[in-house]
Amino acid sequence: ESEKSHLLAAIRNVPDYPKPGIQFKDITTLLNNPEAFHFLMDHLVKRYADMDIQYIAGIESRGFIFGAALASLLRTRFVPIRKPGKLPYTTISEKYSLEYGVDEVELHIDAFSHGLAHPRVLLIDDLIATGGTANAAVNLINKAGGECVEACFIINLTFLRGDEAIKKTTPVYSVLEID
Ligand code: IMP
Repeated sequence: ESEKSHLLAAIRNVPDYPKPGIQFKDITTLLNNPEAFHFLMDHLVKRYADMDIQYIAGIESRGFIFGAALASLLRTRFVPIRKPGKLPYTTISEKYSLEYGVDEVELHIDAFSHGLAHPRVLLIDDLIATGGTANAAVNLINKAGGECVEACFIINLTFLRGDEAIKKTTPVYSVLEID
């Protein structure tokens, strides 16, 4: 637990970014701290090493950093989940609603096509706030034939209760909880 408080201390809080009233959790300071970054990756390796993960799906863009590092350490495959229009090949997509308007996440149609009937997929992102992005990503993984075995976040802003919808179908794990 004292190690987790060191990890939390490695994350910078930026007030009023990107809008007044928002306390932005900036993980670039964690990446720029070799002990903290290594502690985090080691912690994730221990958690997932024996869970028979076949794919790690990372959400653009900070989910790519942790997801790709973890995929290499676990020797699993990595697939990117991106905002519309960023993936070059044929995609499948999932829409979700924002406070004002809609957004979408996309995945390559053949991301999980390596002969496994229901490949075990770990979803990862840096942070869950309202949960809209991650919930859409879980739906997208399932739509693509994957089995989302867990949704993993470095930070969970628990006061927003963003994990509630996801928890109905998929286990949620957060390394750090901020209330
Ligand atoms: P949600 O869909 O409201 O849960 O927002 C989560 C998405 O927004 C994730 O992809 C996060 O990377 C990003 N995000 C929201 N707030 C923060 C923050 O304070 N720090 C870093 N990323 C954030």
